[in-house]
Amino acid sequence: MLQAPPGTRDLFEPEIALWQKIEQTVRQVMALAAYREIRTPIFEPTELFARGIGEATDIVGKEMYTFTDRGDRSLTLRPEGTAGVSRAVIERKLLGGGGILRLWYMGPMFRYERAQKGRQRQFHQIGLEVLGCAAARADAEAIALAQQVLHQLGIINLIVRLNSVGTLEDRHTYREALLAYFTPRQGELDPDSRDRLTRNPLRILDSKDPQTQAIAADAPKLLDYLSAESLTHFDQVRSHLTDLGVANELDHTLVRGLDYYTRTAFEIQSSDLGAQSAVCGGGRYDRLLEQLGGSPTPAVGWAMGMERLVLLLESQQGEMPPAVSVYLVSRGGAAEAQALVLAQSLRQHHLSTELDLSGAKFDKQLKRASQSGAQLAVILGDDEVSQGVAQIKHLSDGTQVAVPLPEVVDHISNSVRQRAIAESDNLLTRY
Ligand code: ATP
Ligand code: MG
Repeated sequence: MLQAPPGTRDLFEPEIALWQKIEQTVRQVMALAAYREIRTPIFEPTELFARGIGEATDIVGKEMYTFTDRGDRSLTLRPEGTAGVSRAVIERKLLGGGGILRLWYMGPMFRYERAQKGRQRQFHQIGLEVLGCAAARADAEAIALAQQVLHQLGIINLIVRLNSVGTLEDRHTYREALLAYFTPRQGELDPDSRDRLTRNPLRILDSKDPQTQAIAADAPKLLDYLSAESLTHFDQVRSHLTDLGVANELDHTLVRGLDYYTRTAFEIQSSDLGAQSAVCGGGRYDRLLEQLGGSPTPAVGWAMGMERLVLLLESQQGEMPPAVSVYLVSRGGAAEAQALVLAQSLRQHHLSTELDLSGAKFDKQLKRASQSGAQLAVILGDDEVSQGVAQIKHLSDGTQVAVPLPEVVDHISNSVRQRAIAESDNLLTRY
């Protein structure tokens, strides 16, 4: 039997309702903050990621889905969103001279990783980018909006970890200090970290190996190597976050996996996620656009893993609202034809309607009506059609009335509206 590739999933009910809730929430938060959506291609030239993310990173070194197309181009399924967005901003000249551009995106990303809970090969991210602004206010706004998305989804037990990775120049001196510290201790490091010693020593700080972590705890701290400007910027970010009510914790070992970060690096973690604890990661990337051939453009952004949001929502979910208001039951040629038309008319009046197409016996169709969670069932048989009526059944208490066909839509509209009003009154008295 054919199976989906490892690390991919089919998304379906009931989980899909959570995805829709996340998507709606994100659209709302972004619109309120004047961010505009951008959709970039799912594959890009391999060189974009190699240059943008950095050859020495795990992503480029071992996680990319790269292939050659029939035109002999090397292409890669995007492993993250920032490189593609930056490419689009440069290519389409989206950033007028001196302007500020606020963008967000949502969609699938691809990384060849060991699949496990909260870690997929095709996964989905929501991301945000502020381009053209070097001010610490932009970092703070971006981080606060990530927090806002999570807050509005009702996700709790979160912690914002923050560090500054300085400028490329700051990091150059720091790298020397790290090398001097780790080189004599390399025998005690895990194999991956030993490998990183020459390629990307900062990433040793990121190691999950307990012994390496213990050694890294006493390593020189990046903050001590920051220029005065980088330190001021970092202090400002923290002070704005405090003003915005975003609690945060300094984490000296937070360096993040991507080379293009400068200054602010942050992660939002949840204690409810187990090993894959990061929900959101981001930071400032002031050098990326010029690295990709654009003009120097300060920028800051983040990406949030949607699979991990879904896991968090699943652990706290209550009841989901039913999918439809009306379930349409019909049997017999004339009645079935009439029901098809009535369903269209109900939908045109914004009444969500499921039409039973089975042609099964009435009691079978009515059973499915009850299971659908709908408020009302509309029943049409040949008797009803010859009398010019439909039976409308309230599924909560089983009461039923015959309504002339031309009045059915109005009757149902009123019932559904009255129930909505009753429910909101109910909510008001509860809170
Ligand atoms: P991790 O340390 O968990 O590997 P990362 O540093 O590789 O994360 P980023 O590149 O910063 O992650 O991506 C931002 C967010 O995207 C992560 O915080 C996580 O929520 C999500 N994410 C990253 N990789 C995956 C994956 N393979 N499957 C599911 N979600 C992912
Ligand atoms: Mg990763």
